[in-house]
Amino acid sequence: LERIRWFAKKVVMGANEWPLLLAVRRGLIQVLPLIIAGSVALLLLNLPIPRMQPGLDSIFGQRWRDLCLLIQQGSYGIASLAALVCISLQYANDKSKDLSGYRLSPTITTVVSLSCYFVLAAPLDGPLIRGFFSFAGGFPIALTVALSATPLFIFLNRCSPCRRVFETVGTEPEVRDALAAIPSGAATILAFGLVRISLESLGLMNLHSQAQSLFGAPFSGAGSSLGTGVAYIALSQFFWFLGVHGPNLLFGVEDSILNVATQLNIQHAGSGLEPLNILTKPFVDAFVHIGGSGSTLALIVAIFLKSNSKNTRRLALVALVPAFFNVNEVLLFGLPLVLNPIYLIPFLLAPLLQTLVAYAAAAWGLVPLTVSGIHWTSPILVGGYAATDSVAGAVLQLICMGLGVLVYLPFVGLANEVYNHRFKNALTVLMDAASSAATNPSGKKCIGAPGQAGMVAEMLASDLTLALESKGQLYVVYQPQVDIDKCRVVGAEALLRWKHPVHGLIPPHVAVALAEDVGTIHELGMKVLKEACRQHASLLSRVEESPVLSVNMSAPQLEDDLIVDKVIQVLKQYNIAPSLLKLEVTESIALTPEAKTVETLRHLRDHGVLVAIDDFGMGHTSLRYIKEFPVDTIKIDRSLIQESAGGVNDHIVTSIITLCNALNIQIVIEGVESLDQLERFRAHGCCIYQGYLFSKPLDFDGLVDYFCEKSHFSLGAAWFNPASSQYPWRSDSLN
Ligand code: C2E
Ligand code: MG
Ligand code: MG
Repeated sequence: LERIRWFAKKVVMGANEWPLLLAVRRGLIQVLPLIIAGSVALLLLNLPIPRMQPGLDSIFGQRWRDLCLLIQQGSYGIASLAALVCISLQYANDKSKDLSGYRLSPTITTVVSLSCYFVLAAPLDGPLIRGFFSFAGGFPIALTVALSATPLFIFLNRCSPCRRVFETVGTEPEVRDALAAIPSGAATILAFGLVRISLESLGLMNLHSQAQSLFGAPFSGAGSSLGTGVAYIALSQFFWFLGVHGPNLLFGVEDSILNVATQLNIQHAGSGLEPLNILTKPFVDAFVHIGGSGSTLALIVAIFLKSNSKNTRRLALVALVPAFFNVNEVLLFGLPLVLNPIYLIPFLLAPLLQTLVAYAAAAWGLVPLTVSGIHWTSPILVGGYAATDSVAGAVLQLICMGLGVLVYLPFVGLANEVYNHRFKNALTVLMDAASSAATNPSGKKCIGAPGQAGMVAEMLASDLTLALESKGQLYVVYQPQVDIDKCRVVGAEALLRWKHPVHGLIPPHVAVALAEDVGTIHELGMKVLKEACRQHASLLSRVEESPVLSVNMSAPQLEDDLIVDKVIQVLKQYNIAPSLLKLEVTESIALTPEAKTVETLRHLRDHGVLVAIDDFGMGHTSLRYIKEFPVDTIKIDRSLIQESAGGVNDHIVTSIITLCNALNIQIVIEGVESLDQLERFRAHGCCIYQGYLFSKPLDFDGLVDYFCEKSHFSLGAAWFNPASSQYPWRSDSLN
């Protein structure tokens, strides 16, 4: 079973990343505002509260109905068109860049795809039929066109020899792109025109009604039996999964079997006879379509119980009200359920199981057969009771709903796993983006990253803004710095930690880059500074030495006009001498120093605050700036100290050390993990170290303990004794 599960997970995870499915998922999500607006209008027009619509008529006249119809037409009514545009654009955004770096304009790709849709499916004369744009009428074709025209156009464009020809045409790149796209665009549109002509000559043009009669045919002559019910539900669900309105496509079955059976039951009940048919339209509506096709109310409950994605839970909350009235489009398109391999099985299985159980209950006489027609928007309990004229009907609805939840639960778990897997991949991309100095054209590092990483960045940035206001998610840890000559712990670096409620620890440099991208870095930086100073004041009152607190500052913080005042005010608030605070700025700031930043740092130093350049050695050209840059300490980057003695890095480090000694700049060796490294730098005359060899970052209590324990050794002559197997500075037990 474990193996099957493992295999299924692999398949689902793999399928989930298929570019076409990704485009469908993201494209459909973008249509969601239309779907929600349409759902609300649909609901208002169909609410099963008898007095509501006439009541609204008496207040607003008929105009409110017109308004709802307009909204419905302008949302659901163009949902196919909107989905086509969004899916094509998503696919084009992901795939239109080829190996040579050439990027075909996603807008042109979408326009070609739109044209193909009209060429393939628009009526030749007369006004455009509503169905052509609407979700119910045009979505399958829109989806097919989006998923075929877009890749075809991109492929043809890639193969097109004309691309080279037009490379030097015109002055604007847009002109070149548009001209280069003519042959492949025309060929794609032509291909769809030929498909249409072929379909027409085969008499297959009205695909929807032809599909209706094709899939209705096997049901001709069938009665209202369990077999009919199972086949109808299975087919209808499968069509929904493909994005095709199942009940609409199988309307023939509904009309000639379910509705007829319903009427017969009503007539029998009216004339005091026993109703005969179990499978009726109210039966399906009450026991199988709870929350709409696919029993989406059960899925919503399963999501509330098990989903670890906050966004999915929020979506479920939005979907709850319409689903209560059996309108399921919000989850169909928002989750989405359409073409989502994770939910294929439960989307089929839950309604089938409900059909079997409800049928058995009715066959065994546990619930009365349905005796009245209920409106399809009747909510759970109300619908079950009204359809059977019995409380047993409502209870059976609850049981069916519970079964649906049980079927959906493991798949919500699977969705969690897939989501976590995607999150991890995206986070790796964001970590690289955050550590690189490069920004995208909008000047951001993480927000706007392509694909999943960009979406995760948006989500994390909004979570970070919330975390700034909440308690406990953001906190500070401290990594001690020791002076092995003086045998003392001389300071500690404050390091930000963000414990995300769902995803756990987020790397601090990603948090910082996100905060820089969305402009909350000033708030975040001050939060760290205040917390670190508050705890440092407490540390100073407990230890004899006066350790220096190092706090990281990012570039935008130093561009704040008021930063000097803010820092000094915090120091005053906690009564800390400015010389006990060291601000660490990254080497990139020192590399291309902005006049204003240099000025700010000078002011801070005038007040007595110390300045360090962090991660020094990543871009070695900075050596020439050191003389002008107001700096007290240089922290040598971990990447430089990893190499063994005698390597190139060693020579670079030696020259940095010589230069710093000449300029009277203190050196801190960061990231020391082994005794070998320690000895190498000790031989160079370096004495201040920070690294796992001494201690990993500690919480405040751990830091206080570290100070207390190590000060005990500070008087001992053998504080540094590599020959000894006991290294008193190590804090292996503390992480
Ligand atoms: P950093 O300022 O260079 O901090 C040193 C980083 O190296 C820390 O990572 C620390 O845990 C890690 N480190 C120290 N010794 C060792 C070692 O021996 N081995 C290894 N493998 N790693 C070691 P951390 O805490 O993940 O921080 C990463 C970066 O995030 C920091 O690099 C800093 O640039 C940034 N950061 C952290 N907190 C803040 C903050 O409050 N503000 C700003 N602007 N940036 C921050
Ligand atoms: Mg630092
Ligand atoms: Mg560093």
